[in-house]
Amino acid sequence: MGKNDYGRTKWTTIQEEERKLKQRRRQLMAECDHRDPETGKLAIKAIDDRGNVRCKLCGMEFNSVMVPESELNESIDTLHNAIQQIRSYSGRKEDRNLIVAFGKLDADIETIAEQYGRVIRDPESRFNKKKKKKHKHNDYDSFGFYGADSVSYGSGGGRSKGWR
Ligand SMILES: [Zn+2]
Repeated sequence: MGKNDYGRTKWTTIQEEERKLKQRRRQLMAECDHRDPETGKLAIKAIDDRGNVRCKLCGMEFNSVMVPESELNESIDTLHNAIQQIRSYSGRKEDRNLIVAFGKLDADIETIAEQYGRVIRDPESRFNKKKKKKHKHNDYDSFGFYGADSVSYGSGGGRSKGWR
């Protein structure tokens, strides 16, 4: 019997370790603001010429090109619809936790447009309000221009709206 049992035990042990690692990674990403804790400077590095970046601290990958307002609102609408459909068709008793969690998730998602406007589209007001913050204004610029410098928007369209 030993052989199979041994293999199985090993496998589940590895699975458990993988689960724990994944959890640690998620935790790291959740707490990281992608800035060097000492200097406050952005800790992101370009991984292509389309504005995609990776955080040197937590490994999170994302695109640094400014998201057009209409695209953001559409995405939020889509998620809102999907979330409310899921909540409507979930089992009342067995999915109670999901119904509540997704209810909160939807409310959180709705704040993205507002926060995006405050932090990304209108950074001046943010930096004026929070002068005590240690980040310098050009930290934002280096971030913001990341995508704008490297990405061609083509002619017309409102995509570059918001860039200085
Ligand atoms: Zn990070």
